[in-house]
Amino acid sequence: MSGNVTPMMRQYLKIKQNYLDSILFFRLGDFYEMFFEDALTASKELEITLTSREGGEERVPMCGIPYHAADGYIARLVNRGYKVAICEQVEDPKSAKGIVKREVIRVITPGTIVDEKVLSEKQNNYLVALAAEQDVYSLAYIDISTGEFKVTYVEEKSGMYLLIDELVRLKPAEILFSLDTKNEQLFELKINQLLNCSYHAYPLRGKEGSEILINHFGAREFSSFCFARIPAAVKAAGMIMQYLKETQKIALQHIINLNFYQVDSFMVIDLSTRNNLELTVHSRNKTKNGSLLQILDETVTAMGGRKLKQWLEQPLLDLATIQLRLDMTEELVEKYILRSEVRTHLKKVYDVERLLGKVAYGTANARDILALKNSLLILKPIKEKLQQATSPGLNKICANIELLPELVELLDAAIIDDPPIVLKEGGIIKTGYNLEVDRLREATRDGRTWIANLEQEEKERTGIKSLKVGYNKVFGYYIEVTKSNLASVPADFIRKQTLANVERYITPKLKELEELVLHAEERAAALEYELFLEIRQEVTKYTAKLQKLAQVIAELDVICSFAEIAVQNNYTKPIVDQSCTIELTEARHPVVEKLCLDTGFVPNDCYLDTKENQLAIITGPNMAGKSTYIRMIALLTIMAQIGCFIPAKKAKIGIVDRVFARIGASDDLARGQSTFMVEMNEVANILTKASKQSLIILDEVGRGTSTLDGLSIAWAINEYILDKLKARTLFATHYHELISLADSYSGVKNYSMAVKEYDDTVIFLRQVVPGGSDRSYGIHVAKLAGVPQEIIARAQEKLLEFEKENYIGEFLEEAAPTVEKKYIKEQNVYQEIVAAIKNLDVNYLTPLDALNFLNAIKNKLKKCEMEE
Ligand code: ADP
Repeated sequence: MSGNVTPMMRQYLKIKQNYLDSILFFRLGDFYEMFFEDALTASKELEITLTSREGGEERVPMCGIPYHAADGYIARLVNRGYKVAICEQVEDPKSAKGIVKREVIRVITPGTIVDEKVLSEKQNNYLVALAAEQDVYSLAYIDISTGEFKVTYVEEKSGMYLLIDELVRLKPAEILFSLDTKNEQLFELKINQLLNCSYHAYPLRGKEGSEILINHFGAREFSSFCFARIPAAVKAAGMIMQYLKETQKIALQHIINLNFYQVDSFMVIDLSTRNNLELTVHSRNKTKNGSLLQILDETVTAMGGRKLKQWLEQPLLDLATIQLRLDMTEELVEKYILRSEVRTHLKKVYDVERLLGKVAYGTANARDILALKNSLLILKPIKEKLQQATSPGLNKICANIELLPELVELLDAAIIDDPPIVLKEGGIIKTGYNLEVDRLREATRDGRTWIANLEQEEKERTGIKSLKVGYNKVFGYYIEVTKSNLASVPADFIRKQTLANVERYITPKLKELEELVLHAEERAAALEYELFLEIRQEVTKYTAKLQKLAQVIAELDVICSFAEIAVQNNYTKPIVDQSCTIELTEARHPVVEKLCLDTGFVPNDCYLDTKENQLAIITGPNMAGKSTYIRMIALLTIMAQIGCFIPAKKAKIGIVDRVFARIGASDDLARGQSTFMVEMNEVANILTKASKQSLIILDEVGRGTSTLDGLSIAWAINEYILDKLKARTLFATHYHELISLADSYSGVKNYSMAVKEYDDTVIFLRQVVPGGSDRSYGIHVAKLAGVPQEIIARAQEKLLEFEKENYIGEFLEEAAPTVEKKYIKEQNVYQEIVAAIKNLDVNYLTPLDALNFLNAIKNKLKKCEMEE
């Protein structure tokens, strides 16, 4: 905008210049207004009316929202990936000379939102920074609502991939990156494929990461960071801190820890595995419902809920810690009363972590502070109960519950038990906490009594029985006399207002008392507010202790939840060790068993090691229960390694460093890759990353291409796993040809899903039995699914024919989804056509031959199309 602009618009443009990437909420009285492009965007996104305003020579587009409704609108914009800069009036308009001073007080972005109405209770909201320096890649992340701040780095060339797995685990709301061009491209591609979040390049501006971190944490603390000499890590953490300082514009007193962790000190679980195993979200409904997390979550605090999700996403490798958790779970399983009492108390604990965030942001009100006090008060009985515990983990938790009596005492003495939400109107501070507040309150009370007495006195003095003392906001206290009594009004009454039937007066005495009451009331409210701020500031001194406490409580809640579900669902304690075996007796799938309550879930055994039982090939028809069986083994391993009991009669699990779960030909057309390409990509990924300690679950891998291709690939993959990787592997397939792998490898064991044939029908027994299956029963499945009898009969006929010809082609594919079948068929026809063209010798081709050839191709394509 050029030329003559109004002074206000000049101020707007000057501020906007520094926030070009944000939507600027410009405070004008009781509204936030948006102008120009921002107004166009916001009116569309928020469905609010677009108007215009005088801006100087021309009118400018504008839209606005009332300030008290801003939270909802901000949340909507931020959820859609916008940043919102909040620009407030920073001086009192009454005392401003010229245009009121305005400043941006905060920029709200997807990764920095702290509004509790937007955040989900049992989930973290992460901001992530990625940086590279000298071939080292680093990732730092923070949840500013809780203050959790962590950093990691990897040195290998392939390190970016590990960090991408980390990103997938964290599911950040926003990512900042500062990488070289090559990695930036790879990274952007991956983000677009795997995550749906806002991301932007974000360089450090002028300063070194170390300088920014030293500014916040202090030089001593900084030099104690074990990553202090790793430029990439310092940069990533520095980026986060700089971004927060730029956008939040507060001291961030609740961010007092920056912890380093190693990605590979936890079980690595990549995206496909997470999705295939449905650890925290169900693959179809994309919610927690139907996931393992839902089954395991009996936590009763928000902190516990978030911690459980973190644990489930990061199973442990360290045997001692796994054991510690298992022992705690065991003790709480056995001690019903202890568990139920602790859980009853825990239910009353508020989200201390996020309360601290609110304290740091200056948004905590008296009710929040009261919630903090009440949470602390409940710790006492919890600690007392835990004193009877004997497992080292619970002993440690008990010892770490610090009761902070001074803080409780302070809050108890200061804040009344039912404070209002607003902070500036008084009614927050308890009587007895501050002498001046008490004195002012007394003055208010006395003043009111005096005023009430005055009414009586004046009635007597004037003889006007209907005389009344009243109050309104404009005139304050007044004496009201009806028109019929005007003759009795004494001379010292000063007339203030005339109404239809009454006259209102004041007297010097009344004004004197009024001054006393109103002043005292106002003073008390202001003083209470001041005192409240002091108390809130005092709370910040306990941030470190309270954050530690929140962690302890969260952990206790998760362990109680583990014990609770173990009892509810009849889980047992697994033996976890450093061996390379997985031995399960009567194991059940934790999620599927819940769905089979009426029919009953059939438990199964499993034995895997790295010698004679390295590869289990599970054959059986579709719907027999192969996928359920192999996924169950992966899930139980993960459960054991987070310290949870598992659904099995007996279990022994040798620690697994990575779990891979792949499902053949999963439909991934949305990502623009052919299904088979995706399948092979994922397999390639496993084959390069798995170690001897890994667990590999392959479900129908190879079926995304033609049968012979698929079978050959499946065969070769298995050979590679047996010869090179030596990882424990379960391979579910309906290619029964694979069972002959056992003839050449002693490490292969064949299993099949038992089926019973009865009167021309098949009953699935869901039982895993030794030995391979040599029939696929696809036709029976088709029958079960309701395919017309005529077709079933014809299929049986063809089957016999094919079997006679020993033709392993199409009938094996009866189970492949139609989309895949169509794809395979098309690929075969195309290959035939290409081969025919290649073999064609154009030099000897007459025009008629060429036409016929073309016609033959057309017919072939047409036939293929018609068969679909
Ligand atoms: P497959 O992989 O062989 O096609 P699934 O594992 O998908 O078969 O199982 C098909 C269905 O059978 C599942 O949805 C589940 O309801 C049921 N099922 C699987 N295993 C069991 C079991 N052990 N006990 C009871 N029902 C089972």
